[in-house]
Amino acid sequence: METIQIKGTDLNVSRIGLGTWAIGGWLWGGTDEGKALLTIESALDHGINFIDTAPVYGQGFSDELVGKAVERSGKRNRFVLATKTGLEWTENGASVFRNSTRERILKEAEDSLRRLRTDVIDLYQVHWPDDRVPFEETAEAMSRLYRDGKIRAVGVSNFSPSQMESFRKAAPLHTAQPPYNLFERGIESDVLPDCQEKGVATVMYGALCRGLLSGRMAKDTTFPGDDLRSWDPKFQAPRFEMYLEAVEKLDRFALERFGKRVIHLAVRWMLDRPGVSVALWGARNPVQLGPVDELWGWKLDSKAMREVDDIIETSVTDPVGPEFMAPPHRE
Ligand code: NAP
Repeated sequence: METIQIKGTDLNVSRIGLGTWAIGGWLWGGTDEGKALLTIESALDHGINFIDTAPVYGQGFSDELVGKAVERSGKRNRFVLATKTGLEWTENGASVFRNSTRERILKEAEDSLRRLRTDVIDLYQVHWPDDRVPFEETAEAMSRLYRDGKIRAVGVSNFSPSQMESFRKAAPLHTAQPPYNLFERGIESDVLPDCQEKGVATVMYGALCRGLLSGRMAKDTTFPGDDLRSWDPKFQAPRFEMYLEAVEKLDRFALERFGKRVIHLAVRWMLDRPGVSVALWGARNPVQLGPVDELWGWKLDSKAMREVDDIIETSVTDPVGPEFMAPPHRE
């Protein structure tokens, strides 16, 4: 496992972080608690010490499962626990909206500390920018938690460079968590260079493009229950077939060039991009973490990077981004 020191903190994290949205069940068609706990516990076996969760994932359930698994392992000191704040929901997550007021942030921190069964959150991130609240107010609340020792590092997620600039006026900023993967490259023109310039560590989400880059999908794959992929525009015909064709070509390339598969290529590519600190890997059962062990000891050089770009540019003629996931503001 490669590791990285988050600048301005004493956090040394694995470059693969375990993403626990699906573990919370909400918008992923439900969860299996037993498998979820085993997945979190097995992270350390793959060298993963960094766990990313959020209160909204299962409306507290993902936070709780992380807390339970970490406590059960008896190895709290070996884990770096990251959670988030700034989203509010109505019962069972029927409606989710942004709320980054001071009051909401301070309340959510106490809720997450309790659910995570810890006295300090290692990385606390504002989940989505809430421009109905002055960024300084949000940042001051985060800064207070930091000064009080309730959180060890401050992060934001889905923020633009100018939003990060406003935030930084009232708080330290150690990490940014934007969406990034082979098919979703929007941040390459703004967030990524900005974070590099300012020395902000990047924690990328969606490395597998919600499973599309795993190589397990076919055009007849269906997504039961409330699984967000049943309305994610990438997974709808005819666009889905177009992406699957690109995945097939990338898989062939990975095999011929590196003796690997598309799932390895997608994440190795990410780790080899300048400015990328950590790639989150969403998993809901321990088996899904198996391919993590195949990421080490090889790299994509600039020629391989160009070939990958060529495959995508020629196959994906009607791309679409991850914007469909953005939660609304309060009424
Ligand atoms: P992801 O990591 O791109 O994809 C995760 C999905 O890929 C899994 O749920 C699983 O789906 C599939 N998968 C994983 N390993 C696999 C394997 N070995 N073989 C086949 N399929 C495999 O998507 P994500 O969960 O959306 O993103 C990762 C994490 O980033 C989240 O858990 C969360 O912590 C974070 N995130 C943050 C934000 C934000 O706004 N800050 C937004 C999204 C995500 P199936 O089992 O269903 O096939």
